[in-house]
Formats: sequence, C-alpha cells, structure tokens
Amino acid sequence: MPIHEKHLIRPENIKSHDKLVMDGIDISGHWSTFIETRVVKDYNESLQDEIAALPGGEYVHRCWQCGSCTNACTVNAINPDFNPRYWIYLIRMGMESELLRDKDIIWQCVSCNKCTYVCPREVAPEGVMKATAHWLELKGHTPQSPSTIFDDVFSTQVIETGKIEDSLVVRNFFQRTGQSLTQDWLIEMVKRMVAHLPVKMLMALGIATVLRPRTKNWGGARDAIKEYVAEQDAHHRKALGLESLVEMAKLEAAAPFKQAAE
Ligand code: SF4
Ligand code: SF4
Repeated sequence: MPIHEKHLIRPENIKSHDKLVMDGIDISGHWSTFIETRVVKDYNESLQDEIAALPGGEYVHRCWQCGSCTNACTVNAINPDFNPRYWIYLIRMGMESELLRDKDIIWQCVSCNKCTYVCPREVAPEGVMKATAHWLELKGHTPQSPSTIFDDVFSTQVIETGKIEDSLVVRNFFQRTGQSLTQDWLIEMVKRMVAHLPVKMLMALGIATVLRPRTKNWGGARDAIKEYVAEQDAHHRKALGLESLVEMAKLEAAAPFKQAAE
C-alpha cells in the first residue's frame, strides 16, 4: 500500500470527464474520475544503500510505513507535501525520479526530532531527512544549502583552531552566502548585545575577533580530525559512485551556490 494520502496523487494524473455516459448510465463529473496508470522504468536499485551510507540514513531499511513520523512532523503540519514516510518509501523502492520531484523541499526539515521520538522502528527519520538532503547535494541535484555552508564554515574553524569564534563564523558564513553584514536585523542584534552584555564579555569578544585564538598544541588533534573527515568523505563519495574528481568538478559546475537570502 504505497500511497496513504490522497493528496500524493499528482493532479496531472487525475482524469475525469465533464460528460460521460456508459451503457446508458451518466457517470459525468467526479463519478468518472480515474487515476492514470503510472509506469516507473528508472529504478535506482542502489538508492537505499546510498542513503544508508550517509550519516543519519543507516536505519532507513527498518521502516514499516506506519506513517507516525509524518503524522508527528512539524513541517508536515504546515505543508502536507513535506512527507518523511513517503520519501522513505520512495528511497526503499529505489524510485529516484519520484523522490527528485520533491528535491526542493526535503531540506526544510527543522530537526525537531518529533518523528524520531514516535518512530516504532528506530529508523531515526530526522537522520534520514538529513542524509537525503546530503545525498541530493552530493549528487548535484540541488545546490549547497545555507545549512550545509554553515556546517562547513563552523566545522572548518573548529578543526583549524580548536576554538569557536562566533563573530568569525558569522562573517565567513555571510561572505560565502553573499549576504551583507549591514542587514537591519544584524545591526539591531549587535546594538542589543552592546547594550546588555557585560563590558568584560564584550571586551573578550573584541579581543577574540582580532587575535583569533587557537587551542594550545592543537596541531595533532587537527591533523587526526582532518584525516578522519577525509576518510569519511571518500567513503561517502565511493558509496554514491562519485570517486572521480572530474565527475565531481562537473557536478559542482552544474550546481552553483544557492543564495541563502532567497
Ligand atoms: S525532524 Fe524533520 S522530518 Fe522529523 S518531525 Fe521534525 S521537521 Fe519533520
Ligand atoms: S514512524 Fe518510523 S516506521 Fe513509521 S513510517 Fe516513519 S520511519 Fe517508518
């Protein structure tokens, strides 16, 4: 029973006749509504394995399609097209082209984890949503989302310095997403910080911004983390058949950066 929700039937697949009489019986209007037969020929038989190879997607195979995740989902409550249960079904069936029809909304998961708490099979649907969004980016189906860029900026700084320097994270994120540092809300936030934070803390923030402190003797840890990250990255790309650098360059060219401010 793949489709539980009526709204999942695509409008273009619903056929009806304003005037239809069969064997003398008038079945016009909604009596003559049919769903066009759909033939899927382009299964990706590796789709479940590809999602399972990415962080968060490991338990996608456990899903038994109860629908509790979608029923509990914060985003589904305001947008019925956001449907974790359905996407997990498509992943398990290898229906990649159907999944790609929703590629522009999968990233909208707000990581509230309600789905994960209600799931009776410990699928961790929130993780599957993250893995799917990651998969879409790695495969070049969607550009890097602002969330991915933020993760990259944040983790790069932590790995390089062993410290989190908030203002630098914000500046680098804004720079990479093409956003201005003089947006009204940001200016207002800084004004309020200056007005309400203790002077000592403001001075510490200022000094950290200028001096960019590093954790002492961090070099060994940094190199070990970098090595691990590179190993994991290679593992993920291999699982998705993306080892070729040439192929990656083509994908990156085909999926230019998405403005965060849109
Ligand atoms: S974590 Fe994402 S998929 Fe799960 S309930 Fe929250 S918004 Fe929905
Ligand atoms: S709650 Fe868990 S088992 Fe039920 S449909 Fe969602 S992921 Fe599958």
